[in-house]
Amino acid sequence: MNNNIRYSVVIPVYNEDAVLEQTYRRLKQVMASTGEAYELIFVNDGSCDDSVDLIKGLCDRDPSVKLLSFSRNFGHQVAITAGMDYSRGAAVVVIDADLQDPPELILEMIDKWKAGYEVVYAQRKQRKGETFFKKQTAHLFYRFLNASTDIDIPVDTGDFRLIDRKVCDILKQLPEKNRYVRGLVSWVGFKQTAVEYDRDPRLAGESKYPLKKMIKLCLDGLTSFSFKPIKLASYSGAGLIALGFVYLVFLLLFKIVGSSAIGGWNLVLVGEMVLTGFLLLMMGIMGEYIGRIYDETRNRPLYVVGESYHQEEKERNVMKIG
Ligand code: UDP
Ligand code: MG
Repeated sequence: MNNNIRYSVVIPVYNEDAVLEQTYRRLKQVMASTGEAYELIFVNDGSCDDSVDLIKGLCDRDPSVKLLSFSRNFGHQVAITAGMDYSRGAAVVVIDADLQDPPELILEMIDKWKAGYEVVYAQRKQRKGETFFKKQTAHLFYRFLNASTDIDIPVDTGDFRLIDRKVCDILKQLPEKNRYVRGLVSWVGFKQTAVEYDRDPRLAGESKYPLKKMIKLCLDGLTSFSFKPIKLASYSGAGLIALGFVYLVFLLLFKIVGSSAIGGWNLVLVGEMVLTGFLLLMMGIMGEYIGRIYDETRNRPLYVVGESYHQEEKERNVMKIG
């Protein structure tokens, strides 16, 4: 085993056969220009296209390429975590496979790392080629999350970042299952800085983040780092009680001056619908937290590696859990 690896690059891959060759070439060019030893760890997150065969082809050509292949789709954040678990470099870079994150920026990150920063995250100035809906919801979400938590989670940053071995080793010790990795990196602390960039459009293929996965990521971020949503129940409960009293006082006043009070059964129905809706929503929010508590207590491993593959030690069909 080569333990002198300076840089590990972790690339989560889910059905990315249309871009892999190009991604590999751009990454290779950038990493080779550092003149130091590196490894490219492709984490296959249960792809059902030709991604695995393509990566194996890269492994056969190039000893710096490694493949870690999950037994099924475990999700982007878990794929990143597995890549970090297996990485051996003194600095670890996480980058998307679709070239939305320009690999050339890694050199700038490395400069900052060499200047003493332990975390260098890439902050998006602009996002090109993404839908209006995605840009707006992302914009709002990052700001809402930031306002909801005491930890300073920088806005408009994804998982494209460089972390020092120290930070990586601490992340490996955090056992939580519903991971919001960028939040965890902020939580760890140390000296952090940003490099800015314009996010390019995806090179080919479609986003692997449908609305359902986006919502899951948002909820993981919020529930992992904030109690505000669940506290909403008590705040609004108190608010509603106050409102009820004010309403009662109004009714009494109307009664005293003799005019008939506004209302009737339809007013009751509206109130009933709003309140029931609100109660169900609050139960849903509690459910999100309780479900996650259940996930943690079951203590299942985070992922199952069906196979890992590279030139040094060709392991096939190994079952590893992490
Ligand atoms: N990805 C993954 N597992 C998933 C979904 C996505 O490993 O379940 C990978 C995907 O291959 C890509 C990165 O995560 O390398 C980011 O996904 P994508 O580009 O589709 O997200 P977007 O940029 O549209 O938010
Ligand atoms: Mg993308």
